[in-house]
Amino acid sequence: MSQHRGIWRRQVHLFTLPYRLLLASPCVGFLPDFWSRVLTLSWDSHTHQYITERAILNVTLETLSGLKKHHGNHDKEEIRLSRGFWRAVGEVVKSNAATDFRSSTRSDPVYHFDSEHIESATVMLRRFWTHTVLSVRAKEYQSARHSLGQLFHSLQDFYSHSNWVEMGQSSIYLHLLQPEEPAVPVAKEDTPTCMECFSTTCRNNLLPRLKTTQENSQLLTTGYFSTFPPKPQGKCSHGGILDSSRYLGAKGGINKDSTSPLFSPHHADSPYRRINNIHHQL
Ligand SMILES: [Zn+2]
Repeated sequence: MSQHRGIWRRQVHLFTLPYRLLLASPCVGFLPDFWSRVLTLSWDSHTHQYITERAILNVTLETLSGLKKHHGNHDKEEIRLSRGFWRAVGEVVKSNAATDFRSSTRSDPVYHFDSEHIESATVMLRRFWTHTVLSVRAKEYQSARHSLGQLFHSLQDFYSHSNWVEMGQSSIYLHLLQPEEPAVPVAKEDTPTCMECFSTTCRNNLLPRLKTTQENSQLLTTGYFSTFPPKPQGKCSHGGILDSSRYLGAKGGINKDSTSPLFSPHHADSPYRRINNIHHQL
């Protein structure tokens, strides 16, 4: 656990660089923003906007307190963040939410970790990260915020669209941004991942192998959404009323995007809570 925390810190500090520089300058996945929460009447769902704002705020406050201590300032005065900071955060949030609306990204499974596109989505995540760092170094902050927003979107989707938490995981998947960390194999196109169900909710419809906590036999999977790409027999769907593939075998979905029974009817409360704990660590 303490080793995990150490690795965590490293990952947090990787993120710190663009945040510090942000300060210097003025699909369906999680519901994108506040308004979608209002429209779907799911007040307690966490949106991409909420998760992103909280992650940036946490890292910023941690960095600023560290800097204060480093300079020998132990006053307990409140840290105030400028309007420029919140404007910059707003740009990251906007770019994140736009992934669900832009015609070039909204139906592409790679941007949302859908349809077993885990490996190509991971490659894309790392590209976003490289682009963000290079843009910061070149002082192209707007471009950095844009790619950081896209990176956050896909990263957040990974945890709610895959079986990561059902395998008992309660912290982040380091391999996504750190290639040297161990990778979990991905289910092949012809590997069944969900079982047939005959109830309306189809909860716990992942096959036992996809829920095992034994490290050597774990297998990652993500749900298929709608008709592109077509869902092979025996695969899981994303689920919810917007997903037309939910009626195809294996019936039901695995998304943990929201607490709304309309959009995420197939999962129990505990995986959703575990995802929220993971997002606290982002
Ligand atoms: Zn998405």
